[in-house]
Amino acid sequence: MGGVMETVERGKTMLDHIKDGFSNFKGKEFRPGQDEAIRLILDSPKKVVVICAPTGSGKSLIGMMVGAAHEKACYLCSSKQLQRQLMDDFPEARAMMGRSNFACNQDPQNRNADLCVHTTATPCNLKGDCDYEVHKRAALSHPLQILNYHYFLTEGNYVGNFAGYPMIIGDEADVLEGLLTDFIELRLSKARLDSLSLVPPRYRTATAQSGLSSWREWAAEEGAIKIKARMDKLRGRITTLKPDAAFTHQDKLAVREYKSLEALLAKLAMFTSHMDESWIFQEQKNSRGRVDGWVFQPTWLTPALSQEYFFQHGDRFLFMSATFPPRTVLAQMVGLNPGDIDYLELPSTFPTSNRPVLLQPVADMSHKSYEEELPKLVKEICRILDKHPHERGVIHTVSWKLNEAIRKLGDPRFIFHNSIDKDEVLERFSESANGVFVSPSSTRGLDLPDDLCRFVIVAKAPFQNLGDKLVSSRVYGGGLGAFWYRAICAQDLVQASGRGVRHKDDYCVTYLLDKQIEKLVVDNQNLFPKYWMEAVDYL
Ligand code: SF4
Repeated sequence: MGGVMETVERGKTMLDHIKDGFSNFKGKEFRPGQDEAIRLILDSPKKVVVICAPTGSGKSLIGMMVGAAHEKACYLCSSKQLQRQLMDDFPEARAMMGRSNFACNQDPQNRNADLCVHTTATPCNLKGDCDYEVHKRAALSHPLQILNYHYFLTEGNYVGNFAGYPMIIGDEADVLEGLLTDFIELRLSKARLDSLSLVPPRYRTATAQSGLSSWREWAAEEGAIKIKARMDKLRGRITTLKPDAAFTHQDKLAVREYKSLEALLAKLAMFTSHMDESWIFQEQKNSRGRVDGWVFQPTWLTPALSQEYFFQHGDRFLFMSATFPPRTVLAQMVGLNPGDIDYLELPSTFPTSNRPVLLQPVADMSHKSYEEELPKLVKEICRILDKHPHERGVIHTVSWKLNEAIRKLGDPRFIFHNSIDKDEVLERFSESANGVFVSPSSTRGLDLPDDLCRFVIVAKAPFQNLGDKLVSSRVYGGGLGAFWYRAICAQDLVQASGRGVRHKDDYCVTYLLDKQIEKLVVDNQNLFPKYWMEAVDYL
């Protein structure tokens, strides 16, 4: 008993000591559940600890403290903007970003470090003082580093730096599978192949029996040969460029093309060595129905793939996010054994009365009853808008088709975006008095505190598109596919409803209108975090 108490006391002292090392948190109290979570993570014998931490639970401090308890750690986040935010909160850590974020010291007004032409044959006399190199060295020698996933994957796998960590912390780690798949998959555009005078293989279509193997042979032979030939040609030009000379526009284009071909060649090599019959490939078509590209992806990340490109870079991992699928599904998605994972859910520090989630299943928006049920959905949306005449809100339409149907209502409060102007339109929305942001693609990434959003309508269950071959291969491929399909929808639903409640005094009501959502919630309560289920009720 005394021993346990001693351990706890010692643990407390150690945690306070680590916390006080962060100037913005020195002397401050832990939020509910924070210190227990840190202790569990540090004591866990498992390779991966997953913390399901709702907004406001202070997960950044948890992650940073876990990192600081190790000799060296890397904190990964999904964007440069988040890296900057973390640096504001934790100035004791050290962030590092890719070359395009640093000016080249040789010609800082005209080029960035991604156009670096330093080689042993043409050395740069400023390399020792090069901004990019100086920052990189400082980050590499720092015990607590903040990187974005993209930079980490590129450096760790291609350059060999930023690897060998005792602890890696993945923030918003529910995106890890997608990022890792993007890193491994091969995308080829027809325009790119045309520019290299490369003809696709004879059996190139997704339905051809030997389609995949034809592409592999093509990648290993013809594809690689033509790319190397073009690189040789470009090298002839690039090697004449002196680092201290001014680059013409053509010089810059040549360096960019060379580096992009180098990356493509590495992708082809990855594809030829890992692709097997479990991979899928899809043709991409333009608006006239012509094939203008091909995408090759593994149906699931295998343990071998995720080990080679991610897990080999660390000994232990902490994954944090407001939502995660159940342990078995997560393990399947990132190529782990469920037994490798410890799983903890933190409570929400926001009162449930500030974040009600109201089930109001008025229409079945599944494919087969969509047309018949649409009028009921539209009527309910109008009724909810009348209930909030002076407030801003968001309607998640989930599909462009439903987005268009809602546009036809012609309500002047509606604010729509397209695939390229979302940020601009959001500005307009935030300046409006009672605008309603209507979007098919904003269940994640929107941060709308206080008056920016007082109500959220989820008009349709955010299921993944079964028309996508990757999704259908998983769902109809047996195993955990169908469970994964429901789990991802549940995660998106929780994310969608969280856009308007960003701190403990904030409030926002969520309306769930699709009968498919009701079915998902009622039949699969284990797919939702407890803090979210506590807020769910029927209207
Ligand atoms: S040319 Fe020199 S200064 Fe410019 S990015 Fe390369 S090493 Fe840095």
